[in-house]
Amino acid sequence: FWLTCLEHFKKELNAQQFNTWIKPLQLEGNNLDHCTEVVIIAPNRFVLQWVQDNFINHIKTMAKSHFSREIQFQLKIADPSTINNKIIRTEKKTPIPAQSERPKSSRRTPSQLNPNFTFNNFVTGKANQLARAGALQVAESPGIAYNPLFIYGGVGLGKTHLIQAIGNSIQENNKQAKIRYVHAEKYVSDVVNAYQHKSFDQFKLYYHSLDLLLVDDVQFFGGKNRTQEEFFYAFNALIEAHKQVIITCDSYPKEISGLEERLVSRFGWGLTVAIEPPELEMRVAILIKKAEQEALKLDENVAFFIAKYIRSNVRELEGALKRVMAFSRFVEQDITLDIAKEALKDLLAVQNRQISIENIQKTVADYYKIKVSEMYSKKRSRVVARPRQMAMAIAKELTTLSLPDIGEAFGGRDHTTVLHGHRKINELRASDPAISRDYNTLMHILRG
Ligand code: ADP
Ligand code: MG
Repeated sequence: FWLTCLEHFKKELNAQQFNTWIKPLQLEGNNLDHCTEVVIIAPNRFVLQWVQDNFINHIKTMAKSHFSREIQFQLKIADPSTINNKIIRTEKKTPIPAQSERPKSSRRTPSQLNPNFTFNNFVTGKANQLARAGALQVAESPGIAYNPLFIYGGVGLGKTHLIQAIGNSIQENNKQAKIRYVHAEKYVSDVVNAYQHKSFDQFKLYYHSLDLLLVDDVQFFGGKNRTQEEFFYAFNALIEAHKQVIITCDSYPKEISGLEERLVSRFGWGLTVAIEPPELEMRVAILIKKAEQEALKLDENVAFFIAKYIRSNVRELEGALKRVMAFSRFVEQDITLDIAKEALKDLLAVQNRQISIENIQKTVADYYKIKVSEMYSKKRSRVVARPRQMAMAIAKELTTLSLPDIGEAFGGRDHTTVLHGHRKINELRASDPAISRDYNTLMHILRG
């Protein structure tokens, strides 16, 4: 029965969802033929909650039709004693960092983590839900939940924030844990340094003895063969010792140019999750949160206004908020809608100029190498239909036009066609990395 269930969910869900929520589940006992109550073991409370909220009814229904009787399902969290023996061992002596690694100023901890990046101030929404859930699990059981954890997404979407939040949380639970956050570029220069000083032994001693290694923006490894080789050894050593490895990247592992196949495949061993650009409500929530951190109560209307126009990423959202705050201080007036409009005037002018529907059609057509006229032609072949849906989805995101208006601009199509296109693209973005990448690139181009 359980296998049937797994099969079913595998078909229903995308790989990410399946790996996060369903795959780690286990049944207590293995013969269900005569029992009326079954216990499902979840690895932690996040999975438990999620399965409870989203899947349990479905499982019940399938059980009913499979056994022709009611079966009760109970969810439990895995017994921690079975996990504890694998948890980061702390009694190990703390190895000395390689020469180049010794922190120069006393303010920096050896881990290089920024304490301001926490789960607490990380706003959640559809765009980062899965990534955050994966991150929380890894923070709770490092080396066990998913190894490596691979988080990918465009710039300014919170990758660095999220992985540092994991690092900070693990460090807080275990002061002895030997953690290192390193930007991929810094890792490359460490390798170069070790090369020049013939100090690879020290380099290895340091990196191979960590409890947690966080490598940010791993796309910088592309084409750097020696770095990749060293990283390959470090990665293997850590994973074998059940030490957690966390990686971020601006793209899906297979799409990192100049990355060795053996690394590409290893990056996929654990959990791979995307962070998408935040939707409107989430952008509003982020603005309000960021304002709170500055002890400012931001009016919701103002937050909506900023969020409506600043769509590309969280970093720019923060930038816009800072600008508004600075302007309000400068004119010595509270932040109102007018103040916000005035403060962001230049920024908005640029945006408005760029994002006309014609511009979107042309940009998308160029990107997919089809003719602009095919955006409004009647042709339905896949080669043009998908780009057309992409353009419609983007038009819905980036312009204030109504659905019928957008339909009109695409050769007089019905508004339901626009809606369908938008939904389809959103679905594909979650399941098809190529589409997700196309979407992000196009958004990036169009937002300038
Ligand atoms: P990336 O590493 O993906 O380029 P960062 O992690 O550097 O992005 O995020 C850019 C800025 O946006 C940071 O200041 C970060 O705190 C903020 N940020 C991103 N996502 C969120 C979020 N979900 N909630 C709160 N702040 C966020
Ligand atoms: Mg980053």
